Amino acid sequence: MKTLKFLILFLFGLTLFGCNPKTFYIEREIEKNLSRFNYEILKDGKLHVILVGSGGPMNNPERLPACTAIIAGGEFILVDLGAGTIRNADLQNLPLKNLSAVFITHFHSDHISDLGEANFWSLAMGRNKTLEVFGPEGIKDVVDGYNMAYKFDTSYRIAHHGADIFPPKACVPLAKTVRLTDKDSAELFFDRNGLKAYAFRVDHSPATPAYGYRFEYKGNVVVISGDTKKIDNLTKHAKNADIFICEGERMDLVKRVSDYAKKTGRPRIAKMLFDTMGYHIDPVDAGKVAKEAHVKMLVFNHIVPPVTNFIAKRIFLDGVNDVYDGDIVMGEDGMEFILEPKR
Ligand SMILES: [Zn+2]
Ligand SMILES: [Zn+2]
Repeated sequence: MKTLKFLILFLFGLTLFGCNPKTFYIEREIEKNLSRFNYEILKDGKLHVILVGSGGPMNNPERLPACTAIIAGGEFILVDLGAGTIRNADLQNLPLKNLSAVFITHFHSDHISDLGEANFWSLAMGRNKTLEVFGPEGIKDVVDGYNMAYKFDTSYRIAHHGADIFPPKACVPLAKTVRLTDKDSAELFFDRNGLKAYAFRVDHSPATPAYGYRFEYKGNVVVISGDTKKIDNLTKHAKNADIFICEGERMDLVKRVSDYAKKTGRPRIAKMLFDTMGYHIDPVDAGKVAKEAHVKMLVFNHIVPPVTNFIAKRIFLDGVNDVYDGDIVMGEDGMEFILEPKR
């Protein structure tokens, strides 16, 4: 009742000052929407890690597929772009107009589907430089394909809004192939404003090549596994990470779903699920990698099955703390980690 009285008085007050309450409300909402982007994150000198999407390829309203934002020194990188993740990044108020680059780990659809939208939305938000898309051998084909698919859209935007709003050069993403000099080494391929990124090989065969990425900024290290089974090269390049973001497929749960599908006359689903167990990593094995690599925090993303309730999450993590005694975090969409500079 008190709130209602206050509202009536407030609206009456507005009319006394010549303001139309409806216009005031609408403009306030518009301003709220237009000014919601977090630009501070680009200049605070810290390393920010945001799980834009924490799920695998299966549809789930709470977990979009793989996408991780790394923001430091004014650089804003998106690692992988599963379907719908640009919408999530926008709803998470990330400063898309400042998107510097995209890193793709490998070319499964749940890692590349939103590339066209990432380019378009960052342009619409005001990006005026060419978007660079880094990835393993094959990235040029993927980027060329998206450029071809978006050719008409791009031409309409430029014709409709003008080249000042949609600079033609910025409209077309540029593929940058990252090659490793030898198969177990890490390659420094990005070094800007203090943010360094290295690529290293993981094993997700037949999706080959597949990379993980290691980021370094002001003494902090963040490693993203990409999709992989447990291999020594992952442990080698995750060494001493402050945050190790690792994919996780809970094999006993997936096996159970596969067995059930088989038993109930769904052999196609059963076979596909069974096959996935050959090229991903179980959470307990991820814990072993985290221990062997002496990482401080293990964060799960690309979570399969896409567990959302408390009990399923407990089952997903069951046994991880038996093999690893650092911090273990079940990733969620929108989760943010902030690392203060060490030097
Ligand atoms: Zn994959
Ligand atoms: Zn995947």
